[in-house]
Amino acid sequence: MIDSDSNNRPARPHIVIVGAGFGGLACARELGRSDCAVTVVDRRNHNLFQPLLYQVATAALSPADIAEPIRKTLGRYRNIHVVMAEVTGVDAATHALLLNDGERLPYDALVIATGSDYNYFGHDEWRALAPGLKTIHEARLIRQRLLLAFERAERSDDSLERRALLTTVVIGGGPTGVELAGAVRELGHHTIKRDFRSLSVEDHRVLLVEAGNRILTAFPDHLQRYAHDYLQAIGVEIRLNARVEDVDRDGVTVNGETLRAGCVVWGAGVKASPAASWFGIAPGPGGRLPVDDRLRVHGVEDVYAIGDTALALDSKGRPLPALAQVAKQQGEYLGRALKLTFQGREPETFSFRNRGNTAVIGRNAAIFDFGRWTLKGRLAWFLWALVHVYLLINFEKRLLVTIQWISRYVTRQRGARLIDENLSP
Ligand SMILES: Cc1cc2nc3c(=O)[nH]c(=O)nc-3n(C[C@H](O)[C@H](O)[C@H](O)COP(=O)(O)OP(=O)(O)OC[C@H]3O[C@@H](n4cnc5c(N)ncnc54)[C@H](O)[C@@H]3O)c2cc1C
Repeated sequence: MIDSDSNNRPARPHIVIVGAGFGGLACARELGRSDCAVTVVDRRNHNLFQPLLYQVATAALSPADIAEPIRKTLGRYRNIHVVMAEVTGVDAATHALLLNDGERLPYDALVIATGSDYNYFGHDEWRALAPGLKTIHEARLIRQRLLLAFERAERSDDSLERRALLTTVVIGGGPTGVELAGAVRELGHHTIKRDFRSLSVEDHRVLLVEAGNRILTAFPDHLQRYAHDYLQAIGVEIRLNARVEDVDRDGVTVNGETLRAGCVVWGAGVKASPAASWFGIAPGPGGRLPVDDRLRVHGVEDVYAIGDTALALDSKGRPLPALAQVAKQQGEYLGRALKLTFQGREPETFSFRNRGNTAVIGRNAAIFDFGRWTLKGRLAWFLWALVHVYLLINFEKRLLVTIQWISRYVTRQRGARLIDENLSP
């Protein structure tokens, strides 16, 4: 797998990247056609555009619209090998990565870009009942539960049961929870009205449950208020200071009250991948791997970390947020820095440039925070759409998604309303 040395030339440095998400892919692309041999290891065969996963969960897009085989993305770089395997540990002393099939993969430099996962705060048994939105499987599961609940409600004679089935509880008032709550409300409203003869839109409920006293806390106050008011105007019920105490097959218990629901979704808090445990070092807040200003993992030679799993600080000593733009910029920087390092040159330190934080709330409604100025409403929504199409992995996906968005905007129809009879509900 490593570059061979048949002509007695010194072997090329071997860089191993774990994780082909935003950070890992950006790093690999930067190292493409370089003098390094690169191996990209991921447990999945595809890269996933997570910011649009909520649209798969609400039947607006299909999984293949936002996912791309890693081999296809990196196929044009002859110096990059792709390995589909789960990494289980690292032998830092001998510079070897440990794979789940027992194989050891030697490296000269190792990049950890393993992302993050939802945090169930000690209640991992809730995951099956209230899936998060991290993978295609979870998005399909949520879509399945939403659509099956509509079908069951249509056939139910019991008004209480019908109302329960038509209730969705979204846990967590961050961007994912807000985006999902708005999209589920739109899905229910238009689908029920148009396609279900026995159901009434009055019975469709979406509850957004947040433990804190505000939603979208990463945004300025006036954008929080705008999002709050918009969601309420389209009929999303927002419960603040509402702590989830239990999740079971029938729904959720919040502050002692049981909310019966046909679908429960988890979007409350993230934690880093368990990569810190591979090195036996104490993780930082959120389980993240502490790195220095050149993204080197503290105390482990030749190991770097980027993206959601890394704890990097900005110039004021604050942790950089777990965002795609951070992971991408870090990946691009590290690719360049590693090339320089192996040429014996000293790279500059990493500095993050904020290109704006955004969340979409519904049709014609989004918010943008650029630091010095902000944007909300239809213009922000249009900009959000442009940015997300631009950020998709290639032209084919951009075209596919644009066509479907235009069609959906005009017809309000959601084409991916598929129930898979083999997917366990
Ligand atoms: C629903 C949702 C919406 C979001 N919306 C936005 C948004 O609008 N804007 C924004 O900036 N950010 C958004 N984010 C955050 C953004 O997606 C992440 O910050 C970004 O994906 C982090 O990139 P990464 O490279 O660190 O990790 P990821 O993109 O998560 O990639 C990690 C990769 O590592 C692989 N991996 C993990 N563990 C192992 C292992 N042990 N062995 C092998 N492979 C492994 C995974 O399979 C995955 O491919 C959103 C996230 C979610 C979940």
